[in-house]
Amino acid sequence: MKQIRKRLFIDIKASAKEREKIIYLALENECNTLVFSLNDNYFKNDNKKQKYTKLIKNYVLNIEAGGRDLPLLMPKQLFLLHRDLFRMEQGRRKADHHFCPTNPQTIAAITEKANILLADVLYKITAPRIFHMLPDKDNENTWCACPACRAFSPAEQYLIAVNTVADVLATLDNEAKIFYVDFDTEPDAEGISPRSNMVISERI
Ligand SMILES: [Zn+2]
Repeated sequence: MKQIRKRLFIDIKASAKEREKIIYLALENECNTLVFSLNDNYFKNDNKKQKYTKLIKNYVLNIEAGGRDLPLLMPKQLFLLHRDLFRMEQGRRKADHHFCPTNPQTIAAITEKANILLADVLYKITAPRIFHMLPDKDNENTWCACPACRAFSPAEQYLIAVNTVADVLATLDNEAKIFYVDFDTEPDAEGISPRSNMVISERI
């Protein structure tokens, strides 16, 4: 029988002490799965001596990766020389939140970054592997308004970005899935279909 995963997202800013408490809280609430940001120290090797890492091992908790991680895909240092990869707002390019997903060079840049981020954590994720690729918190609708992107709603721009990550993941592990959120926005993401390795998740 397939195990049902009840998950808890760990805030990247939580201290080691707070994480210990969170793990006991998870166990009390019968959570069997912890989700860490792709950038979380949990995935770094120097983390092995942490007590919470040992607790995770002792209680055989499932590990998943991701969360509000979409902005991580676009390296901010590209802003200086490659502004057209970034999102446009009232005629100006901005480095925050999301990026310009219809630019093929953006897709190339986030493909490269996703490859690095996903491959780095892959061996620490419990199979069947699940990743969560959610938009920036409280800026879910803050996307690109450049002439090419204007034809796409925020929900569609978000799907273009997650599809790119899904393509990368398929090359690394063809059993793995990406959870994404369905926007309640109008119009819906009708113009873009999610990849077959993507699963719709509840809003968080
Ligand atoms: Zn754009």
